[in-house]
Amino acid sequence: MESYNSFQVAQHQVREAARLLHLDKATVELLSWPQREFRCTLQVRMDDGRIENFHAYRIQYNYARGPAKGGIRFHPDETVDTIRALASWMTWKTAVIDLPLGGAKGGVCCNPKTMSPRELENLSRAYIRAIHPMIGIDRDVPAPDVYTNPQTMAWMMDEYETITGRHHPGVLTDKPQQIGGTEGRRDATARGGVITVREACSALGADPTKAFAIQGFGNAGQRAALLHREILGGGKLVGVSDSRGAIYLPEGMDPEELVMHKLKSGSVLGFPGAKVIPQEALLELDVEVLYPAALENVITEDNAPNIRARVICELANGPTTPAADIILNRKGIHVIPDILASAGGVTVSYFEMIQDSYSWFWEEELVHGRLDSKLTRAYHAVQEAIREKHVHPRLGAMVVGVARVAEAAKLRGWV
Ligand code: GLU
Repeated sequence: MESYNSFQVAQHQVREAARLLHLDKATVELLSWPQREFRCTLQVRMDDGRIENFHAYRIQYNYARGPAKGGIRFHPDETVDTIRALASWMTWKTAVIDLPLGGAKGGVCCNPKTMSPRELENLSRAYIRAIHPMIGIDRDVPAPDVYTNPQTMAWMMDEYETITGRHHPGVLTDKPQQIGGTEGRRDATARGGVITVREACSALGADPTKAFAIQGFGNAGQRAALLHREILGGGKLVGVSDSRGAIYLPEGMDPEELVMHKLKSGSVLGFPGAKVIPQEALLELDVEVLYPAALENVITEDNAPNIRARVICELANGPTTPAADIILNRKGIHVIPDILASAGGVTVSYFEMIQDSYSWFWEEELVHGRLDSKLTRAYHAVQEAIREKHVHPRLGAMVVGVARVAEAAKLRGWV
């Protein structure tokens, strides 16, 4: 039975890349563990007057290349190991795109679906009161992740500025534009992913205007549905799922109508004309492109043999287990791994940090153009590593990211 502990998966990936790069023991040890971890419990006043305790984490995995960077999750299933894994992946992600940043992640174990906006605000502010000494534009810069959004960032930035008594917009990214956010951040993760699909399809001779499916219909999934057709000039969205269920419509669904339906009803279920299918069946649909855009460990050794997509674009972090990677590679499926495919978000976050430091904001076209050139360059650097080392795509991407972090650590005299 394959292990689905995400941190063990992440450590395995680091060690595999390190072996190919012939890294010494001290470097492997450094890169296999977070450099700094913080854990606490937050006491939050709920609407009924009770105080509730929430377990919270912020993990700075590695900061050899620059300030640590990565999102904050609000999710009931977070553990120290899920956050460690996600922080590890952020480290290789920023390095693959060649951003002058390290990797971090934060998380609070909570169920935001059952909490009121006021409770979420209290929780967000309590989290910043706990982690404020370790963040800052030159230390660690959080952003949204699963079930957090620009409103969460606005509360958090405000709490940070209240504590420090100064204006500090660059302490967090993906803020609302009125208070230091950038153009082009909201759809950046999906846009980056679709750009890599464009490059993959032209390299493989695959046809992105055929059928595609999306697993997970949060921010990244919704934006991918809209941008796939805009950037690739067509494509039929035949299957979609969210945490409540999966739907299928072979004639294709209108992405705009589907997003409206989800916003209104809270789920993709009930979309007119679409048939409900089992969640597992969504990943196995006969499509040209599949976007996993939800959580970790959904493509496993059990379902990988049944996957029929030609290209898999991982908008989620860690959706594929190591054993599944090998199966997909054997089947000739072109996987665009998470640390490349989902890197558009952090890339535009980096642009936001730059704009915040100068209080000088860029036009949308400039953001899109710079994102495109960063992602395109990274896609081809990864393809070259895959060819040179004869490895599957995730290992190719890991080799690029791990090599850059190892070099920085060596230059600093850490190893
Ligand atoms: N949470 C996003 C990710 O996993 C964005 C992180 C960021 O912008 O710092 O890549």
